[in-house]
Amino acid sequence: MIDQSRIDDLRQRSVAAGLHIIGGASGPSADGATLAVVSPIDGQPLTEIAAGGQTEIDRAVAAARAAFEDGRWSGLAATARGRVLQKIADAIEAEADALAVLGVRDNGTEISMARKAEPGSAAGTFRYYGELCGKEYGEIAPTAPGTLGLVHHEPVGVVGVIVPWNFPLMIGAWKIAAALAAGNSVVLKPAEVASLSLLRMVEICHEAGLPDGVLNVVTGTGEAAGAALARHMDVDVLAFTGSGGVGRKLLEYAAHSNLKRVYLELGGKSPNVVFADTPDLDRAAAVAAGGIFRNSGQVCVAGSRLLIERSIHAEFVLRVMAHASAMRIGDPLDLRTNAGAIASEVQMNAILAACDRAVADGADLRMGGARIAAETGGFYIGPTLFDNAPQNSALVQSEIFGPVLAVQPFDTEDEAVALANGTSYGLAAAVFTRDISRAHRMVSRLRAGVVHVNTYGGADISVPLGGHGQSGNGHDKSPHAMDKYRNLKTAWIQL
Ligand code: NAD
Repeated sequence: MIDQSRIDDLRQRSVAAGLHIIGGASGPSADGATLAVVSPIDGQPLTEIAAGGQTEIDRAVAAARAAFEDGRWSGLAATARGRVLQKIADAIEAEADALAVLGVRDNGTEISMARKAEPGSAAGTFRYYGELCGKEYGEIAPTAPGTLGLVHHEPVGVVGVIVPWNFPLMIGAWKIAAALAAGNSVVLKPAEVASLSLLRMVEICHEAGLPDGVLNVVTGTGEAAGAALARHMDVDVLAFTGSGGVGRKLLEYAAHSNLKRVYLELGGKSPNVVFADTPDLDRAAAVAAGGIFRNSGQVCVAGSRLLIERSIHAEFVLRVMAHASAMRIGDPLDLRTNAGAIASEVQMNAILAACDRAVADGADLRMGGARIAAETGGFYIGPTLFDNAPQNSALVQSEIFGPVLAVQPFDTEDEAVALANGTSYGLAAAVFTRDISRAHRMVSRLRAGVVHVNTYGGADISVPLGGHGQSGNGHDKSPHAMDKYRNLKTAWIQL
């Protein structure tokens, strides 16, 4: 585990400007354009990153295609690819402290969470897919006598990966490691407010033996670099994590370019349903508070709605507020901090606007709703709880992606299900109850890609994560994720 003196040492390091990595070489944009990187910890400039566009994306896709076609990676035995992926895992783990601190300076996640969730899970993900390489079989179809139907799994070719600012290493690794394990080449476009740790991770991949051109990264804005990647005629699959609004655009870009397959892992408005028979109400309240307020709510699966059976509603709200009040919000590089900064000033202002709107829509503001620690220059909002949130309000219907909890009481299981399923999303959910039959019923009735029972979050790499409804159409994690990055091919043989 990282200690405070190590963090304090690492936070003093100067941060080099971020450059594109194309064909194994780092370099600036052709026109020299850059974007300033502001640390959300104190609102001060941290460094800058290259701002790429069509030219850099064209170069990166060409490098990825050349690497794919000449077989320097795609042509290796799966076990040989697996060995490189495992070396990458070791190298990420060896540099985990520095990667974690660099990422926190860029996006503000508290280090107590980031050390495990970022380099920790990225290393675990490369190891998992590395171990999977060479352990899968093709298929022989049950065809008529005299015929043989073989089903092969083939890599798709060039995979474009676009990721958000929250958990860039974890989410980046989920896509990159699975795509590489399947034999593809990759072009990555990180979020403009969280590129630095991913750039270092791509360098580490090369140092660990990944051949040049197999993994390329172009930094820059979504509108320039991201759109150029999503519109590119020579990208076979686009794997995206981010907002539904951008997801919609990516589907349009695919329709207007080469009909590439587009996988979307989008946002959520995930309900946490607490029944009066919950075994340990105080523990459930602590989990509910952590499920929305850790990382200041910038978690796709955050439990941003809390549905409480009416008989315990008032008491449970007080318990959640007590746990939220006990959380330490502030400097994300202090190990004692429970929730760090909002990733950018733009996002902080969007969250505050959503809080104003919730008040106007009639929800009861019980705590938070305002910027805190403004004297630091950083972007912080305290845990915010609205009670009696109207079902049709934006507070309940729209993802805020901040430390904002919408509470609603319910009377019956049917009403809880109706409220819980009453948004366009379907990413995650939770049910707290001691009744095992009800727990299983709720798992099947709640519309969500993951339903937690008597807990929230923490699912490991072995289980898939993907949205139902407008929370997306693909899955990261588990062997199922490999399907996104492969084509099926049939060999039909007359014997
Ligand atoms: P965002 O959609 O604004 O940006 C995501 C990425 O898309 C960034 O790299 C951005 O530069 C790029 N982008 C923006 N416009 C683009 C365009 N026109 N063309 C191509 N690329 C473009 O998302 P964000 O604000 O960075 O992240 C927060 C969102 O991500 C939330 O909605 C959150 O729920 C979601 N998220 C989902 C999951 C999941 O697994 N389902 C995980 C984490 C985050």
